[in-house]
Amino acid sequence: MSIKEKLPKVADALRLLFPPNCPSCGVESDCEQSSQSFFSIWQADGWCQDCRVQIDPQNSDRCLHCAAVLAQPSPYTRGCASCYRQQFPFDFAVSVHNYQGLLRDLVIQAKNKRDDTLMAQLGRLLAHQIKKHPQTADSDLMISIPSHWKRRFFSKGFHAAALIAQNVEKMTGIPHSQRILCSVKPTLKQGTLSRTARLENVRNAFACKHPKRIVGRNILLIDDVMTSGATMSEATKVLRRAGAKKVIVAVIARATSVD
Ligand SMILES: [Zn+2]
Ligand SMILES: [Zn+2]
Repeated sequence: MSIKEKLPKVADALRLLFPPNCPSCGVESDCEQSSQSFFSIWQADGWCQDCRVQIDPQNSDRCLHCAAVLAQPSPYTRGCASCYRQQFPFDFAVSVHNYQGLLRDLVIQAKNKRDDTLMAQLGRLLAHQIKKHPQTADSDLMISIPSHWKRRFFSKGFHAAALIAQNVEKMTGIPHSQRILCSVKPTLKQGTLSRTARLENVRNAFACKHPKRIVGRNILLIDDVMTSGATMSEATKVLRRAGAKKVIVAVIARATSVD
């Protein structure tokens, strides 16, 4: 038996000895969910089957324009019922799931409690989604939506988008930079604003500090939640003006309620 054949058995044995607990409900992971590779024992994070299917539907129809998970295939040639009227400047969008139910609760919990571990675990779920899409395979660089220094100060350094990107980087190998795109104006929380106000709130909010690192590159742009798409659109425009060839956005959750 080769080492490659032995490793899954070693992982299963470790699972039996030290079953990981589900990050959501805390139950011990089911060892029947056999890992496919040695490293997946850590990558899987021990989500139980019940929670995993709620937060990360495996075979759902997805809108590639706005990242919404759809109850049925979209009747529109571009986009879905939530986004077909919108012209997003990015090329493609990926999410774990819609901003609803258990995933919404976990994102809120991670942010309110500044829970680095939980946000990292959610980031690793996003990495699995990113790796599924061949459109992301030629990504050169990952950029997380920056947070203004005033907000970083009040959040005591907790930065959800950067934490997610760091974990996606570990699992995909796509290098992450927090130094290329910067926040140049303090913005209000988008969740409290109307769609029109969201667009105005983020207008001219970002600047590209190192355009030479962007020219001709395929960028993966990371954030925790995308609602109207205003933040991701504004950041994409800045990256395009700096010379980015392709911009794909990837978020933990896609909220469609105000679109
Ligand atoms: Zn669970
Ligand atoms: Zn859509």
